[in-house]
Parts: sequence; structure tokens; C-alpha cells
Amino acid sequence: PDQTDPDPSKKNLVILGTGWGTVSLLKKLDTENYNVVVVSPRNYFLFTPLLPSCTVGTIEHRSIMEPIRNILRHKKANVKYYEAEATKIDYEKRIVYAKDESEIKGDVMETEIPFDMLVIGVGAENATFGIPGVREHACFLKEVNDAQKIRKQIMDCVETASFKDQSPDEIRRLLHMVVVGGGPTGVEFAGELQDFFMEDLQKWVPSIKDSFHVTLVEALPNVLPMFSKQLIEYTESSFKEEHIEIRTKTMVKNVTDKYIEAEIQKPDGSKGIEKIPYGLLVWATGNAVRPVVKDLMSQIPAQAKARRGLEVNEYMVVNGAENIWAVGDCAVANYAPTAQVAAQEGAFLARLFNTMAKTDAIEAEMRELSAKQANAKPDERKVILEEINERQRQLRRVKQIGAFSYSHQGSLAYIGAEKAVADVSWFSGNIASGGTMTYLFWKSAYLSMCFSTRNRILVCFDWVKAKFFGRDVSRE
Ligand code: FAD
Ligand code: NAD
Repeated sequence: PDQTDPDPSKKNLVILGTGWGTVSLLKKLDTENYNVVVVSPRNYFLFTPLLPSCTVGTIEHRSIMEPIRNILRHKKANVKYYEAEATKIDYEKRIVYAKDESEIKGDVMETEIPFDMLVIGVGAENATFGIPGVREHACFLKEVNDAQKIRKQIMDCVETASFKDQSPDEIRRLLHMVVVGGGPTGVEFAGELQDFFMEDLQKWVPSIKDSFHVTLVEALPNVLPMFSKQLIEYTESSFKEEHIEIRTKTMVKNVTDKYIEAEIQKPDGSKGIEKIPYGLLVWATGNAVRPVVKDLMSQIPAQAKARRGLEVNEYMVVNGAENIWAVGDCAVANYAPTAQVAAQEGAFLARLFNTMAKTDAIEAEMRELSAKQANAKPDERKVILEEINERQRQLRRVKQIGAFSYSHQGSLAYIGAEKAVADVSWFSGNIASGGTMTYLFWKSAYLSMCFSTRNRILVCFDWVKAKFFGRDVSRE
């Protein structure tokens, strides 16, 4: 038989996604215990914390991608990978329906994948809250192609603004870069964009010097709500120094191709609508549930009250479903939707599945020994009984795996001008720091967290390249 054929004596473990949660699971999983199948439309892992740097070319996107084939080829047993999107999960029939959504299609584009065990790690999609015009006119910042699109559009705005006879109003509009959402994604992007302008763009295209302008729009009274108060104030004052405008208490309600309409609070406390013209609009207002997850939620009565994703128990089992686990942004376990949480959940599942396989193996041995003992002579029985007792002791040791518990290492964000903010857990306390030293800490922390040595070297090269030669302003 083909070496890659599933082994009928093993359970089929299907894993959906190649993101933070599932890749962390795959890294630690003993794949020889299961027939493992990975399904994801993305055949690489993406190191999202450095994605904002790709929008302006501080880092090239391929430096933070790791091919899933490279990750899987180092596993002991063969793991199948299908580049496809899970379109539906039938939880009663235990089938995942998958569709090849990529450009090149073969005769077979859709298939059914049966599972005994299923891990859902499909992440989340971009929240738009149904606000008209967002999908048509704004750029998101979640995937590699989003970063590439932003990079192209920044340069398109700059070149269009420099076109012969452009009016001053139109130049101001084209060079107004508006970022909606003052969470870490929006803040980091705004910081990177202003760096690009200060360090490179204004040198290469001096004519735009007085008109290029970055504005961060946030509905709440402040940005970065998950950081401590002093770091929020530090970020806001640092943005002021860098000439990045922050518009808080400004909720975008409508988006057209040239301006956004936002509800603002006037100084007298009354509300009004303001039109804000833009050239580039980046939308970073957080996460929404993916359709395939929503559909599964609607099949499971225990998920009736779930809103933000699949509710899971302390072993990451989807409430109301047997043999289905969820990790990362698509799971609701009372933790923030971060890479840190997803990675720890994935590593926990690997430990759990490795333990389950060991338990199954020991239990099978015990059953065999019990059968042997029944037909054995009295003096052999004693020896077999001792072996059974030893297996029982092993089983107790193996089964000692506790529930998942998250250990928060801290929050870090780059805010531009070689400054970062960090709320870091230190023993039982918390250290809040912001500034250039924190930036160096941010750099070294993220460098060490990169997936591979190859990624680390590429990122270092990109940093050096950007420092010495400037960022590339050609529009691909
Ligand atoms: P993802 O990593 O999003 O992976 C989901 C996977 O599922 C992808 O491979 C996707 O292709 C696949 N998929 C999607 N749909 C389907 C489908 N239908 N079928 C099968 N597969 C599917 N967190 C931090 O802790 N620190 C940071 O500094 C940080 N910076 C960030 C910067 C940016 C710009 C962004 C966008 C996020 C950042 N985050 C950060 C958040 C972090 O990236 C997410 O919390 C994390 O990616 C969640 O991991 P996940 O495995 O749930 O999902
Ligand atoms: P977020 O949910 O953290 O922030 C979105 C912001 O958009 C909110 O502050 C919200 O008030 C605002 N908003 C929503 N609708 C709006 C509207 N119509 N008009 C104006 N403002 C509006 O989203 P995010 O920044 O994309 O982050 C998503 C997740 O990823 C979070 O859990 C975050 O912690 C994590 N993340 C972490 C880092 C980091 O640690 N450095 C970086 C990026 C993302």
C-alpha cells in the first residue's frame, strides 16, 4: 500500500487552519499516533506581529512566512495537507466539506473529509459591523495580500497627488491616510506609516512634504484599551509629537470612495456627523466570526447563546460537541484573541492528544494482558498481574494532564519613531514601559519569536536594508 494511505488502525485527526493555534499544535504533536490531515486555504504560517511592517516595506512579506510543507516534512509520520477552505462542518456525520478556492482548479474542486477528531483553528474575519462601503473601499490588515495592497495604494496616492495640475484640495485628500480602529493593529500601522513618511517618502518625493497626513480614528475615548493608563497616555502624546492625529470619540458610520462619515461628539456634548476625505483608508476594527464557524454554531444547541465564536470548555472541547476542539480567535475561552493565547492553546492540545494516544496504547496493552491472564497457569498469572499493575501506574501518571491554563507574558506594541509600549508580567507583578529601550525589547522579543532561523535572518536583513538604503518606494 501507498505509504501515505491512512492507517485504518489509527484515528483520523483533521486540523483546519495553518495559523498560530494549529501550527503550534502541529509543532508539538506526535503525528505517528493519528492519520493527520491539515486543511487550509493558506499553505504557509504567517507571523502576524510583524505584518504592519510589511505595509511600508520595513520588512518584506516573505520574510515572515513559513511554508506549511516545510513544517510538515519534519514530522515523524506523514501528514496530508490540502489547500482548501472548509465550507461546512457536519458535526453529526463527522464530515468536513472542503473547497479549492485558489485560482487554478482541477477536475476535483470539492471534497468530503471524514474525521474521528477535529480541531478548528480557522481564526476570524474582519469586523465591519455592516457599515456600508467598508468592504468596497477600505483595505484590511490581516493577511499578506492586505499588506501588499496597502503598500501599493500608499504609493498610488503619492504618485496621483504628484500628477500635473492636481488641485491643492485633491492633493490634501489623496495624501490623507485614515486608519479606523485604535486597537493595536491600527496603532502599529499608523506608527509604521508615519515612519515611512518621515524617514523615506518626504526625502524621495519632497513635494508632498506639507500635505501628507496620518489620522487614527477611534470610537472610544482612548486608543489601546487593553494597555495600562500610563501607556495609553504615552502613546497619545508620542503620536502628537510624531504629528499623527488621533480622533477619539469618532465613530465611522458610512464609507464612500472619497470620504468617511463619522459621528463625532462636539465640545458642547451634542453629536454631529463629519465628512472626512481620505486617499487611503485602512480598516482595523477587530474580529468577526467566520461563516463556517457560524454555521457549526447553529447546528449545536449548546452554542445557542454563543456570539463571538465557539464556546469551549477548559480542555478546548467545543461545548455540546464530542471530539471537536477549537483554538485561537474562533474559540471563546475568556481570553483575548491574540497569537499568544492561540499558540498556548495549540500547544496544550498537542499535549492532550499525545497523552490520549499514550492512554489508548496502555489501555490496549492492559486488555491484552487481562485476556492472557485468564488463560495463564497460576505461576504465570502472578507475573502478568504485576505487569498489569505497572500499566495502571503508568496510566495514572499519563492521565495527570490538567485543564488548560493561560499564562500571560504581557502585551507589546510598536508605536512608531523607534518607540514601543509594553505591559509585561514580571513574577506576580506588572511592568509598564514605553520608549526606545522598549522598542529594542520589542525588536528582540519578536525576532526570537519568529518561526524559524531562516525567518529571523531574513527579518534582520530587511531591517538593515531599510536602515541603509531606505524603504523601496516603487509601486509593484
Ligand atoms: P490565524 O493565525 O488567523 O489562522 C487562521 C488560519 O485558518 C489561517 O491559516 C487561515 O488561512 C485558515 N482558514 C481561514 N478560513 C478557513 C477555512 N474556512 N477552512 C480552513 N482554514 C481556514 N497577537 C499577539 O499576541 N501579538 C501581536 O503582536 C499581534 N499582532 C498582530 C498584528 C496584526 C496585523 C494582526 C492582524 C493580528 C495580530 N495579533 C497579534 C493577533 C493574532 O494574529 C491572532 O490572534 C492569531 O493569528 C490567532 O490565531 P489563530 O490560529 O486563531 O488564527
Ligand atoms: P481591536 O478589537 O483590538 O480594536 C478595534 C478598535 O476599533 C476598538 O478600539 C473599537 O472601539 C474601534 N472601532 C470599532 N468600530 C469602530 C468604528 N465604526 N469607528 C471607529 N472605531 C471603531 O482590533 P485589532 O487592533 O485589530 O486587534 C484584534 C486582536 O488582535 C486583539 O485581541 C489584539 O490584542 C490583537 N493584536 C495584538 C497586537 C499586539 O499585541 N501588538 C497587535 C495587533 C492585534
